[in-house]
Amino acid sequence: MQLKRRSVLSGMAAAAACPICLASGVSAEEAHGGHEKHWTYEGDTGPEHWGELKPDYKSCSIGTQQSPINLAKPVHASLSQLVLNWKPFPLTVSHNGHTIVVNIPPGNTTTEGDGEVFNLIQFHIHHPSEHLVDGKTFALEAHFVHFNEKKDAALVIGVFMSEGASNESWASVFANMPKEKGDTKTTLTLDATKLLPTNHDRYRYEGSLTTPACGEIVHWNVLKVPMTATADQIKAVGALFSNNARPVLPLNRRFLLDG
Ligand SMILES: [Zn+2]
Repeated sequence: MQLKRRSVLSGMAAAAACPICLASGVSAEEAHGGHEKHWTYEGDTGPEHWGELKPDYKSCSIGTQQSPINLAKPVHASLSQLVLNWKPFPLTVSHNGHTIVVNIPPGNTTTEGDGEVFNLIQFHIHHPSEHLVDGKTFALEAHFVHFNEKKDAALVIGVFMSEGASNESWASVFANMPKEKGDTKTTLTLDATKLLPTNHDRYRYEGSLTTPACGEIVHWNVLKVPMTATADQIKAVGALFSNNARPVLPLNRRFLLDG
């Protein structure tokens, strides 16, 4: 048990060592030029097997605070307000083989009330949603990934999208999605605050990154009010990634709050 615990911790240390690799869905090995067997969303390298692919991925199979989860029966709490200090930036949309990702220049931060400062690093899209609400799946879920200065803790804001009207800011992201892995497109300036609903009521729990090495370092803030995307926009994401959502994992001994 002691040994297992140590490998989990070393996995987490690895996550801390290369958070941007993990956050962008690119493993440290891939980013650093190695040729390990890579994780996927199906088959013998799919989510059920992530923990077996590499020692650093152990948390994926033996972790007890994993994400995503089914967001059900939350305990109501007076949560601190999410404070977003985000500035408009030149939009660069990339395809990293696992998702569509928008990397964000330094200088954009989020805090919960007057809590720890987290730097916004990137956002990316899952099709369909990773979190469920009372067992219900949404068409898409975007994750706004932040790390603290020490890079040993993350804050992720999750935003659901269901089918409906086009949103101007999201439309500029969808319109610039590269079709091939490794491609990047740069376009106009984006105000990322417009990618979120104005109402920040949310679910709050402690969990993990939803891609290997599944480090249990994430303060999850999943917004309750979904954004909307047109059927064509959702289809365009689905054409690139038919399923890039990790299945839900048990809540175990954690509190799910809402407020
Ligand atoms: Zn994600």
